[in-house]
Order: sequence, then structure tokens, then C-alpha cells
Amino acid sequence: MAATNSGYEEVDAAPARVLSRLVEGRWLIGAAAAVVFILYLADALAPHVAALIWLAFAVAVALVPRAKPIGPAAAPVAATQPAGFGGEVRQFADALPDPCFILDRRGFVRYANELAASTFAIRVGDALTFRLRVPDLIAAFDSVARGGPPARVEFAERVPTERFFAAWFAPLGAGDLIVLLIEDMSERKRADRVRVDFVANASHELRTPLASLAGFVETLQGPARDDPKARERFLGIMREQADRMSRLVNDLLSLSRIEMKAHVRPSGTVDLTTVVRHVSDSLEPLARELGVTVAIEAPPTPVNVTGDRDELTQVFENLIENACKYGQSGKRVIVTVTPASATAGAQVAVRDFGPGIPEEHLPRLTERFYRVDVEDSRRHRGTGLGLAIVKHTLARHLARLTVASRLGEGATFTVIFATPAAPRVVNAEQNSVTG
Ligand code: ADP
Repeated sequence: MAATNSGYEEVDAAPARVLSRLVEGRWLIGAAAAVVFILYLADALAPHVAALIWLAFAVAVALVPRAKPIGPAAAPVAATQPAGFGGEVRQFADALPDPCFILDRRGFVRYANELAASTFAIRVGDALTFRLRVPDLIAAFDSVARGGPPARVEFAERVPTERFFAAWFAPLGAGDLIVLLIEDMSERKRADRVRVDFVANASHELRTPLASLAGFVETLQGPARDDPKARERFLGIMREQADRMSRLVNDLLSLSRIEMKAHVRPSGTVDLTTVVRHVSDSLEPLARELGVTVAIEAPPTPVNVTGDRDELTQVFENLIENACKYGQSGKRVIVTVTPASATAGAQVAVRDFGPGIPEEHLPRLTERFYRVDVEDSRRHRGTGLGLAIVKHTLARHLARLTVASRLGEGATFTVIFATPAAPRVVNAEQNSVTG
């Protein structure tokens, strides 16, 4: 085929098309052969006339183009579909950051950039529908293949993991090719879902104490108006609910502040032992109230890391407070500070001897509002945001959190900082699905 006006040469497309029409029309050609043969046997046709009629039919099948829409039943003619592109289109497709296919109007892949081939396991010559049997996708292609305007369609892949894509079909130049760009929307969808869940959870958490406050105000204005005893009791509960709301709002603000500076690395120098001792002292009244002793095991020399003192204080406050609250039955908490070595960064492990955490909860502990036992958390004045704050703070410090636990033997939350010699971005989401 001659060069098209889009500027590339498709040298081998015409023979390929003829061959593919012949392959597609093989049943018709076969049927025609049977008919002329029967007519010949019935003496209705002379042998050379029968042969001529059949030949003319086969040529017609090979030459007459058929507007065949793409669909699940599209026949595989991979071997007859060469890539056949000049450099510019390939180079352009290869330069794109997303999977890109060049299709012919019947839906066969004429070119796939590397990302497209590796993401969707479709080879040149395959029909797109071999791999992507999505009705909306097929309809969008169909419409563009019939000369319609460019079309965008979203679709999801469920196996092996759920992924979301947006497909963009557009005619390529004036030729009979169609470009298909596929954008991976999974991360955006996941972020959308996290945001929606977060707003729903935050509203729910605030609505409960708010409803309780409104109820008591009503009672105090009505039936309990002249009951000083009830008033005292109700005001006490209202105070608790207001405190709960205030803790929640404070944690939400902390989270949003940390998220805002997620990409700014802290620059101060912090001695982990000093921070841990300070936190342990400030939590002494709570530990005493719960009957828990907090022991610190640390080397005599400072264990310095690069960080923000206030933020790291909040991290260890959350971890040691959790260990005291949820590991209360173990009656002791051990905090171990380990300096960095040549191969590992500094670490702080907070270990309790409480009931431990069932394994299935471990990967989700740092999700916002995720709690193993909601009532237990509320009883301990928890908001469900503590470990999410820890995770985000550590990410900013290039550190990560690991959680190990055995039922009945307590839990160990370990903060691991990056190796000083080779700082690198460490995945702080190790134990978290979303956050
Ligand atoms: P909360 O405000 O509920 O304490 P966190 O984010 O700090 O929220 O912790 C999330 C959940 O993880 C807690 O509700 C609790 O179920 C569980 N958890 C955290 N630390 C421990 C621990 N040391 N032992 C057992 N469970 C824990």
C-alpha cells in the first residue's frame, strides 16, 4: 500500500488484507465450490463455466471489503496481521507513558507498545477482544471503527487483582487505523475510595457524640430541668462527649498537617532515647492508673536520627500509650532503643505482654479509623487515628513501622529508621493496605 497522508508507509497491509478476507471467507468459498460442483454434476454447468464462476466468487470475496464490527466472535487471524509500520508511529507509541495499541478497523492489533504488550498480554495480530472481552469497550471501538467520533470508556479487570482502566479510541489520520490508549486508573480510584470512606468515617465518628450532646441538651431543657442530680450526671457525660469530639478533631488536624508536609524531609537531629524517656515520663500517670510499668532499655550514648522532635514524640506517645491501654493485662511494657549499625538504621521497639492482635488485623492497623475492637478503643478514649498518624509521620522521616504479634503473647511495634549511610525511601505502608 502506498504511503498514507498521515506520513508513514504501510507496505504490507494490502496483501495481508486480501489474505485475511480469504481466510475469513473460506466457508463462503467452500459453499460456492459445493454449489457449482452440484450444478456441474446435474449437467447444468459446463466444467470450465463452473470453474470460472467459482473463481470469480473467490476473487470477489478477496477484494470486496466488509464492514465487520469487532465483537467477541471476531475470528483469530493473527498470522495474517503484520505490524507493518513506519518508524514515526511506533516511536510515538513507544514514547507514550501508557499502554498504546494501533488497531485496524476490524479490531486486530497492528502495533502494541511495550507497556501495552506487557500489561495486557496481547500480541500483534491478535484481536483486541481475545483479551479484553468488555462489552462497553467493544461498543466504543465499534463506533469509532464505523467512522464515529473518538470515544472514551472505563472498564475494570478483576483478575488477578482488581484494576481500573480508561480506554481512549481515536481514528489515526485518514487511514483505516485506530489508536487505543489505555490509562491505568487504579491508583486514582483507590484514592477516591479512601477519601470517600474517610469523610464517611469522620462524619460518623463526629455524629455520634454530637447526637448524644444534642439529646442531653434537650433532656436538660425539658424533663430534667429541675433535677439537679440528673443535671450533674448529664453534664458529666456531655463533657466526655465534647472531649471525645475534641480528641477526634485534634487527630484529624494532626493527620492533615502531616499530609501537607509529606514530601518535606525533617532536618533536625533528635536523640531517640531522650524522646522515649520524655514520653514515658509524661505517660506515667496513665500507666500507673492502668497498673502498667514502662521499662526503657537504651544504650548510654545518644541514638541520633534526623527528624522532627515534636512529631517523633507524638509517634512514641501513640505507640507507648497503645501498649499500656491494649496490653494492660500484661502489666509491663518494654521500650528498646537500638542504635544504627553499618547495615541497619536505628530502631525503637515497643513491646507489650497483653492479649496480642489476631494476624488478620495486622495489615490494616494503620488504616484510618481501623480498630480491632471499636468498643475497646472507645473505652480507652481512642479515635482510631493514632497509628495512621504514626504511619504518615514515619513516611516523612523515611522510616517504617512493623508490627509483630502472637495471640496471648502481646505485640511489638517497631519503628525502623533508614540506614544513615544510604538513606532511601522506605515503604511505610508495609503493614497497611490503605491509609
Ligand atoms: P485507637 O485510637 O483506637 O487506639 P490506633 O490507630 O492507635 O487507634 O490503633 C488502632 C487499633 O489497633 C486499636 O483500636 C487497637 O484495636 C489496635 N492496637 C493498637 N495497639 C495495640 C496493642 N499494643 N495491642 C493490641 N491492640 C492494639
